[in-house]
Amino acid sequence: MTSASNRRYFCPQCGVDALESVDNKLYGCSRCGHTYFHNTAVAVSAVIERAGKIAWITRAREPGAGLLDLPGGFVERDESLEAAVMRETFEETGFKLLAPRYLFSIPNRYVFHGVRYSTVDVFFGCTLADSTEFQPNDEAAALDWLAPAAVDPGRIAFESTRLALAEMLKA
Ligand SMILES: [Zn+2]
Repeated sequence: MTSASNRRYFCPQCGVDALESVDNKLYGCSRCGHTYFHNTAVAVSAVIERAGKIAWITRAREPGAGLLDLPGGFVERDESLEAAVMRETFEETGFKLLAPRYLFSIPNRYVFHGVRYSTVDVFFGCTLADSTEFQPNDEAAALDWLAPAAVDPGRIAFESTRLALAEMLKA
């Protein structure tokens, strides 16, 4: 049986399945010597504040379907963090944001289709640019404005968001 640690992958340089993990982010090809870095991905989350309350979505899909989350997602190529948080928030809620401001970041692990990715989640404080109404969609089933102290951590989908809630409660 082949364990995950000595599994071989196809090398992006020579195309042969000779790429093996050296450590948790570095892969080396035993055929051509190519080095591949499986770097940390960046995700962004919006902490949208209105009158002391934060906008929480109820996730419509797995992972964490039915649980609370902040609007957000992965940063695309050639995209700034600010543009990413504005784009993801608009896609998930229909909300347009004013210039987001950096709050804090938290390292995270994200499992997608059975593969575990190392990420860093970057949280931005945001305010709404307009009074657009939230429309339920295939990513966000509902949206609730909840003060940080009113949120049950057990209803939050991801550990990094629970840590973000703890940061909000310190503020
Ligand atoms: Zn190679």
